Amino acid sequence: MTLKTPAVGIDLGTTFSAIAHVDASGRPVTLMNSEGDRITPSVTFFEQKTAIVGKEALKAISTDASCIALCAKRDMGHKVFHQILGDKQYPPEVIEAFILNKLRLDAIQLIGDFSKVVITVPAYFDEVRRKATQDAGYMAGFEVLDIINEPTAAALAFGYQSGVLGQNTKQENVLVYDLGGGTFDVTIMQIRGNEYVTLATDGDVQLGGFDWDFRLLNFVADKFVQDFYVDPREDICARGKLWRECEDAKRTLSARMKTTITCDFKGFSKRVEITREEFEQITQDLLDRTRFTTMQTLRASGLEWDDISRVLLVGGSSRMPMVRNMLFQVTGREPDASAAADEAVALGAALHAQHILSVSEGNAPTFSIKNVNSHSLGVIGKDPTTGLARVGVLIPRNTHLPVRVSRTFRTQKNNQRSILVSIVEGESTSPENCTFIGSCVVRNLPPGLPAGTQINVTFQYTSDGRLYVNVTVPSTNTVVAEEFTHENNLPKQLLDGWREYISQVPPTDYQ
Ligand code: ADP
Ligand code: MG
Repeated sequence: MTLKTPAVGIDLGTTFSAIAHVDASGRPVTLMNSEGDRITPSVTFFEQKTAIVGKEALKAISTDASCIALCAKRDMGHKVFHQILGDKQYPPEVIEAFILNKLRLDAIQLIGDFSKVVITVPAYFDEVRRKATQDAGYMAGFEVLDIINEPTAAALAFGYQSGVLGQNTKQENVLVYDLGGGTFDVTIMQIRGNEYVTLATDGDVQLGGFDWDFRLLNFVADKFVQDFYVDPREDICARGKLWRECEDAKRTLSARMKTTITCDFKGFSKRVEITREEFEQITQDLLDRTRFTTMQTLRASGLEWDDISRVLLVGGSSRMPMVRNMLFQVTGREPDASAAADEAVALGAALHAQHILSVSEGNAPTFSIKNVNSHSLGVIGKDPTTGLARVGVLIPRNTHLPVRVSRTFRTQKNNQRSILVSIVEGESTSPENCTFIGSCVVRNLPPGLPAGTQINVTFQYTSDGRLYVNVTVPSTNTVVAEEFTHENNLPKQLLDGWREYISQVPPTDYQ
């Protein structure tokens, strides 16, 4: 099937990103960047007025670390990136937009102009982070067709590669274990012929290869301090240089039993030898966290290990032998590393883009995707007995999407004209342990309502995990305009300004 519009998908990773398209023969392929690589380091170097993204930015880490943003994806959902870059603080989604823009410009060189894309997000991303990802796409000059969960994309790529995508084959339960550079995601999916149904998902947005790197870094730096009484971690550039050495050594330890890491600082130099066994010992607790989450996810899915027919390895860090060994031990089966660990997610995103474009051109759908929400949705209310703020859960996690629930609130006073609903995601009854998603403010209730009037608030998660809120007053039959302000997301005006600045593409009526 040939489409009028190119079908393009992007894996916007914490440490590496990739862009893929579906070629003329219907095959998803990764597009090379202008340096000739299939994956681009998600690293941005702000040098005076320009932003350099990728390999060249990474190279500058040992000289210009204070102007370089690493792992901006980890800060998504926050107002600003944790580090001042040069003399500026950027919102994390702006840094992500620079990365996306490089991918866009490089891809245009190969496939011509395009604007529509699918971008992937960790299944475990909450609503604020999902919106921030869409905003990053917008600022990079794209029209974001959809955001899909990374494990779903990986499963689609697997389905394509194994020839079952779009076929009515038997049911398979697949566990997707995705350990990348900065995030960990585990998802159990049921592939029912051409239906991709997520049963349960869990993860950790603060766990990935980066943490393994820093264990090595501390191992070496501690030895350095013992010998020379100076600490290379205190200097941001020395630390950056040592980190690169350690990341490289970590890769070596996936292939060999030992390696040496060299550290130079303030005229001193030390070579530290480390074996794979020692490396596994100093990172054991990190691996255990992924084991624990994997077992918990299986429990949440209601399945047993015997029901899982395949364990798919995704993410660069799944190449570490300790990961395979642990999964073999836990699941009793050899994990499947047939998916291209760093490309599967982008390939799946391109297949999803093709699917959306094809359906919009009037073709019949060839597969369907069913997601779940990865966090429970709740509103903050007052506990009637203790008077303390408490979260009332509206939609428990792992509920199939789309989903819609309504809640009735009552006005407190006669002629009350406004109400405020505070929305959170999380698994705790205390608001402070949940993520604040935003406030829904209703300012124009009809005048003259008596105290105790019912106000219905409907919360709807669409299939991409985004939240929409709608308010009605049943007694007067009115739909009330409400303002749903997303916590920490950028207002439209700023998005438009950044879009023109970063991508030179004029603003659209993006919401
Ligand atoms: P993300 O999607 O989070 O950006 P990737 O899936 O691209 O991450 O994986 C990147 C991570 O994988 C990095 O931490 C990198 O060091 C690690 N990695 C890549 N190849 C190997 C390897 N052979 N052995 C160990 N770690 C690896
Ligand atoms: Mg990834």
